[in-house]
Amino acid sequence: MSQEKDKEISEAVMKGLGRVIEPDFKKDLVTLKMIEDLSVKDGIVTFTVILTTPACPLKEEIKKACLEALKPIEGIRHVDIHMTARTTGGGAKEGKAEIEGVKNVIAVSSGKGGVGKSTTSVNLAIALTELGAKVGILDSDVYGPNIPLMLGINALPKQVNNRWFPPKVYEIPVMSMAFMAPPGAPLIWRGPMLHGIITQFIRDVEWGELDYLVVDMPPGTGDAQLSLAQLVPVTGTVIVTTPQEVALSDARRGLAMFQKVNVPILGIVENMSTFHCPNCNHETPIFSQGGGEKAAIELKVPFLGRIPIDLSIRVAGDEGRPIGISHPESPLSAAYLKIAGNIASRISILNSEFQPITLGTLA
Ligand code: ADP
Repeated sequence: MSQEKDKEISEAVMKGLGRVIEPDFKKDLVTLKMIEDLSVKDGIVTFTVILTTPACPLKEEIKKACLEALKPIEGIRHVDIHMTARTTGGGAKEGKAEIEGVKNVIAVSSGKGGVGKSTTSVNLAIALTELGAKVGILDSDVYGPNIPLMLGINALPKQVNNRWFPPKVYEIPVMSMAFMAPPGAPLIWRGPMLHGIITQFIRDVEWGELDYLVVDMPPGTGDAQLSLAQLVPVTGTVIVTTPQEVALSDARRGLAMFQKVNVPILGIVENMSTFHCPNCNHETPIFSQGGGEKAAIELKVPFLGRIPIDLSIRVAGDEGRPIGISHPESPLSAAYLKIAGNIASRISILNSEFQPITLGTLA
């Protein structure tokens, strides 16, 4: 095939890809500068699609749309698409020190304790890793730092030349307030001390290169939470609630607190949704139903998804092997993957210069 013909195909390919709309950004892949390294040789087309996150839930959909768009082009013998990602970062936040190597910080928060905030943090980190992202966890829950237990971590961070090297589990580096006190000792971190430790976590920890650092926040919306939200350069926050009526007022308080410090809300996760009885197959809405979604609609923030109440989630947490590791094929793991994908999409949109017209409800 002549070089002329290949050139013609190459131009037609760019035109074709210029008609493929990225569903989140509502703009075409060429305008979004997502196409790189296009080459056409003897009718064989190769190019790379650069996504804004490795955890993009629309990866396959976008690839299919590209193939479809190129079908009518005459002379193409084969199309080879390489899907890759260059995670966009949240950037510096209003005078807050950036965390070296960390592109985005996701704060996981809740209006009160016991709603499954830490469980969500852990499973979200596992799901983002599963989707191909590099993830770390910072357990800043001053009242009950139980992430190491939930992940079965026995090691402590190592200190070399004033730098902290966090223990890693399932490829995830983890720092926790729990490492800062002997086991069983009461953790009473107040104002300046808490400030000092979190500053160390931000400044002196070798996180490596991370797409996302998941921060398990202390529950509630008091001073400790507020000062943390002011200290950590958060890209966005995920609010975890149970579906009860009170969830709405909790979520509203959380929202108000993060808005006060200019932290975007990524959305709401409803945890402990319904209980599916494994014996009789009956669904019981133990903590009521739909509260998280209702809160999201009322507060005009995305609803990211729901996780049912399930014994295996509790057992997995207690045994230090989260559900995404112990039961990767289960519908529960799929639910966490969906939420993780939604969060990654939201962050990509927040970080983009190309804002879509509407953000909409995701789940
Ligand atoms: P928080 O961080 O909000 O205080 P945790 O994540 O520590 O809450 O969860 C409290 C308890 O509830 C833990 O024992 C945890 O295993 C359990 N749990 C959390 N989410 C679920 C769920 N969806 N199904 C069953 N148990 C859950």
